[in-house]
Amino acid sequence: MTKQASYRTIPVLDQRGDSLKIPATTGARTTGLAKDGLGRPLRDLRISVTDRCNFRCSYCMPKEVFDKDYAYLPHSALLSFEEITRIAQQFVALGVQKIRLTGGEPLLRKNLELLIQQLAALRTPEGAPLDITLTTNGSLLARKAHALKAAGLQRVTVSLDGLDDAVFKKMNDVDFPVADVLAGIQAAQEAGLGPIKVNMVVKRGTNDHEILPMARHFRGSGVVLRFIEYMDVGATNGWRMDEVVPSADVIALLRSEMPLVALEACAPGETAQRWGYADAQGQYDPGLGEVGVISSVTQAFCADCNRARLSTEGQLYLCLFASQGYDLRSLVRKPAETVSDQSLMDAISAIWQGRSDRYSLLRAAMPPDAQATGARRVEMSYIGG
Ligand code: SAM
Ligand code: SF4
Ligand code: SF4
Repeated sequence: MTKQASYRTIPVLDQRGDSLKIPATTGARTTGLAKDGLGRPLRDLRISVTDRCNFRCSYCMPKEVFDKDYAYLPHSALLSFEEITRIAQQFVALGVQKIRLTGGEPLLRKNLELLIQQLAALRTPEGAPLDITLTTNGSLLARKAHALKAAGLQRVTVSLDGLDDAVFKKMNDVDFPVADVLAGIQAAQEAGLGPIKVNMVVKRGTNDHEILPMARHFRGSGVVLRFIEYMDVGATNGWRMDEVVPSADVIALLRSEMPLVALEACAPGETAQRWGYADAQGQYDPGLGEVGVISSVTQAFCADCNRARLSTEGQLYLCLFASQGYDLRSLVRKPAETVSDQSLMDAISAIWQGRSDRYSLLRAAMPPDAQATGARRVEMSYIGG
């Protein structure tokens, strides 16, 4: 099969058009924390602030699909900062403690600091501030790190798929150099946006030879490197199981050179498995820090999944692999006397209570030849990672 032929041709605009019916609320006012149909709480809200990006990572926004004719959302379709904050406020009342801004490339959204300021003013029902983080490709971070910190951002996660310029440029497909991302990471460290996490998507035959150089580079630097299994998100990246490097293989490779000890998860529902670099006695050495693996393909973590995703245009997705969302924008754009904050919260609560999504668990039970069939899934650049 040629490279071109392996891309799927489902029109992305069509996928964005569908919404699920928001379940009727019972009339009883929602007051407490929400749990879904499988007993999972709502803790983490990921908000996509733009569907645009200045990179063309082949596993996310391949150039062949996201070209100059691609129909990005018009500005009027995007949630405004006030609309995002109003929706986020209801999520917080229902249990969300952590908000991650993502995209597309979130730093391309104009005046993002204003949104961060608004979100940083929200409080949980117990009166605690939220944990506000952002995932970025790092290209604009050197310029923006201080302003982001001043606005109330706590941490950043930076994506970087290799240290070798040729490999990285091939993966971002816009000739962007490694040095500029490293400068962004340094600026974020200096601005106090740590502990910084660096995400590396590992694709067999493309950047797996960068695993050890990346680990050597970040060990002892205060940055937590995490290796992500290449996922079958969206419908445009031509995903194949044989390009996935299982996390177990990544850990075995690291251990061939650097002793590691398993660390406890920091919080329930955490996506990464943590490993600490060990000293000569085989004990975890905090000075060397830790490394993580996110095994979205080989080890489903749906059982604890407490994440909701709000798309750029206000669709609520209950799973990264969902094909349809719930249109919250239509609710926030109705007059406040028709849809009050309370009724918005009731609607979100009813949606979460009806959730039974567990795609990775179900995929693990599929026969191998059924695993890559993709079907109608929204793109990661649209709902955010
Ligand atoms: N543009 C920002 C960035 O790259 O960090 C934020 C959005 S990006 C969609 C969020 C995360 O998803 C990135 O760490 C990226 O590497 C990851 N990602 C995108 N496509 C992926 C795929 N097919 N498999 C695994 N991770 C993927
Ligand atoms: Fe852009 Fe991030 Fe997707 Fe790469 S992974 S194309 S940087 S949105
Ligand atoms: Fe959560 Fe869906 Fe991922 Fe499972 S597949 S961990 S339910 S986002």
